Amino acid sequence: MEDCIFCKVAHGAIPATLIYQDDFVVAFDDIAPQSPVHTLVIPREHYADLGDGVPAATLAAIFAAVPIVAETKGIAQSGYRVIVNNGRDANQTVGHLHIHVMGGRAMQHGMVTFVAE
Ligand code: AMP
Ligand code: ZN
Repeated sequence: MEDCIFCKVAHGAIPATLIYQDDFVVAFDDIAPQSPVHTLVIPREHYADLGDGVPAATLAAIFAAVPIVAETKGIAQSGYRVIVNNGRDANQTVGHLHIHVMGGRAMQHGMVTFVAE
């Protein structure tokens, strides 16, 4: 899709530190990491989010890439958190489905911080 930053990464039009790729997905390090390991996994095809009719095979490929990324980044044994910010309330800022693979340091158990009402 035109003007989609992650489509450009997937097509090599924008440089990224690639961690893994196959026919379905590309994984690359987040440009502004929020944990010692912070890698994104995206489908090569453009889907806005999880509600955009993503084929099951593509979803499977995205999740199949996660343990490969974890091994490559050295966090398979220590553990990691997988996050999808989906839509406005979750603060999705890039409109191309992506999952965050985050680790490299022990985390608090609480997963969500809400904006004050
Ligand atoms: P989200 O808030 O879930 O939409 O996450 C978008 C993520 O994409 C953020 O963590 C950004 O730091 C990251 N990001 C934006 N542009 C790039 C880029 N060109 N290369 C790598 N990561 C990026
Ligand atoms: Zn896109």
